[in-house]
Amino acid sequence: MKFRFMSRLGLVAAIFLALPSAASAADKVKAVASFSILGDMVAQVGGDRVDVATLVGPNGDAHVFSPTPADAKALASADVFFVNGLGFEGWIERLKRSSGFRGEVVVASGGVKPLTVDEEGADTVDPHAWQDLANGKIYVANIRDALIAADPDGKSVYEANAAKYLDAIAGEDRAVKAALDALLAARRKIITSHDAFGYFGAAYGIEIIAPQGVSTDSEASAQDVAKIIRQIKKAKVPAVFIETVTDPRLLDQIARETGAKIGGALYSDALSEPDGPAPTYLDMFRHNVEAITQALSY
Ligand SMILES: [Zn+2]
Repeated sequence: MKFRFMSRLGLVAAIFLALPSAASAADKVKAVASFSILGDMVAQVGGDRVDVATLVGPNGDAHVFSPTPADAKALASADVFFVNGLGFEGWIERLKRSSGFRGEVVVASGGVKPLTVDEEGADTVDPHAWQDLANGKIYVANIRDALIAADPDGKSVYEANAAKYLDAIAGEDRAVKAALDALLAARRKIITSHDAFGYFGAAYGIEIIAPQGVSTDSEASAQDVAKIIRQIKKAKVPAVFIETVTDPRLLDQIARETGAKIGGALYSDALSEPDGPAPTYLDMFRHNVEAITQALSY
């Protein structure tokens, strides 16, 4: 009996010793972000207190994403679900229903002033608000407030992480403006595949021309492409950029027919893999702005 008692004690001690790490993993806030750029922002603010799963990963196209049963399962056990909103993720409602998720859905773009574009006579909301760093600061404030609501004990951590991150975003915003302000007015125009840089262009004074609309869910028509080619020749647009989330063939054709050079690849709707040139939101800006300034400088 004595032996048995001791072994039970040993077992209890082992469980007790294992508890601190097991408890801290279980205590983490489980967040799901709809796409990689937002996932990075949540991770920056959440730090060690938050586990972030991202549905549409690096180089993925969130416009035309089809969630899998594994995505529904990941969402079902989450505490908070961060989405961009502005019509970016048309698959959210369906996924929410199929997963049975009952937690908080946080629209990171809440409070952003939306831009609209005219697409075939209809005003369409442009969802790519993160491409203006001033909007990125609004996203971060929304993420901070949502994490505090989900995990009040972490308030001071989230506030400190967010303050540091907001400073870094403000610094990057100044750097982007300084780099792009140096370009000549006549060179400040680029072509991209789909219309993902409207907020970027409005914030930083670059004219953006795109054969495809604000989503990638429909192809550009032959008439659209012919019109763009005339526009590029007339406006003497110096460079076209392929995007990592769209098929490059259309842009190759436009470059050939107009003589505009290919200025490289821009990250619009997704980050790169961790070892690529744009593994974080701020790295994405550094990469894009460097590619744009190189292509548009004399
Ligand atoms: Zn897009």
